[in-house]
Amino acid sequence: MRFMSEKYASLEPYVPGEQPQDRTYIKLNTNESPFPPPQAVLDAVAEEACRLQLYSDPDARMLTRKAAEHFGVQPEQIILTNGSDEVLNFAFMAFADETRPLYFPDLTYGFYPVFAELNRIPYRCVPLREDFSVDPCDYLYCGGTVVLANPNAPTGMALARDEVERIVRADPNRVVIIDEAYVDFGGESVVPLVKQYDNLLVTQTFSKSRSLAGARLGVGIGSKELIAALHCIRNSTNPYNVNRMTLAAGYAALCEQPYFDACCRKICQTREKTAEALRGMGFTVLPSQTNFLFVASDRIDGETLYRKLKERGVLVRHFNKPRIANFNRITVGTDEQMQTLLALVRQLLEE
Ligand SMILES: *Cc1c(COP(=O)(O)O)cnc(C)c1O
Repeated sequence: MRFMSEKYASLEPYVPGEQPQDRTYIKLNTNESPFPPPQAVLDAVAEEACRLQLYSDPDARMLTRKAAEHFGVQPEQIILTNGSDEVLNFAFMAFADETRPLYFPDLTYGFYPVFAELNRIPYRCVPLREDFSVDPCDYLYCGGTVVLANPNAPTGMALARDEVERIVRADPNRVVIIDEAYVDFGGESVVPLVKQYDNLLVTQTFSKSRSLAGARLGVGIGSKELIAALHCIRNSTNPYNVNRMTLAAGYAALCEQPYFDACCRKICQTREKTAEALRGMGFTVLPSQTNFLFVASDRIDGETLYRKLKERGVLVRHFNKPRIANFNRITVGTDEQMQTLLALVRQLLEE
């Protein structure tokens, strides 16, 4: 590339799940919620749009206070970002370098190695156990900054709170980042531990359980010291990182918790029914505490299943990677969407 700086020549950007426009698919490939935001959120966004000539509050005071209340911490322990991807990038910039490399599993969120490369931070990929679970012992005394998605993606499997606590407590001189993007679908949050451990940063997102993927809103929760460091990076990057309408949407969403609790319960029910049906067809289905299932069959290979479902209008996520090339990650949609999926899978197995 003629114009791009040499220092980024080898950058391999993150590849998001497809968002094709050629036809309407049943989209089970990016773990969005199948349920729209509640009316109160839509009204708040419309109302806020009338003030778009003004910058958003760079301190996001209203939503920060609300989020602090929601998570049971002080406002100084909260940072709001443009999706949780942004807080993860800020955290990598702030808390990792040559002397504190990043440690994360070989199979996890694909953005971690990308952010590490972008920021020139060395990283080590620690293999998951044979059964795809995280072994906490791998992270106790590794010496670097730890990043764990909990529950993990794309496996859907989670560590219990006391296992995470063991990792955080083992070495108080390094930061442990716990990415709780999927925690509302059955995981155990470690947010209550931030009071006790100043080296723990928890990230969450409004994209999955709160039906706001398109609004881009993430949150970091940690000790005042960690959060101050993240605000320093944020204010050196983009002080208006969260736009007005998203701040309003986030505030309204936190006022509608019962609606989202009901959505999560529904998704968990649908998930269990779908998992049972797939197991009935001979699929290996990893135990999921998320809004997706990670599945494989020895009757049809992963790539073929992905391709044939796409031809028939259903998008799932296939990763062409060692250990998991035979798997597909399937977002849990509505009951009706999953019935369509199951019928197609049954058909494909019979072909
Ligand atoms: C979806 C996801 C995120 C972040 O999503 P945002 O939309 O940027 O908030 C972070 N971590 C994991 C593991 C995810 O799956």
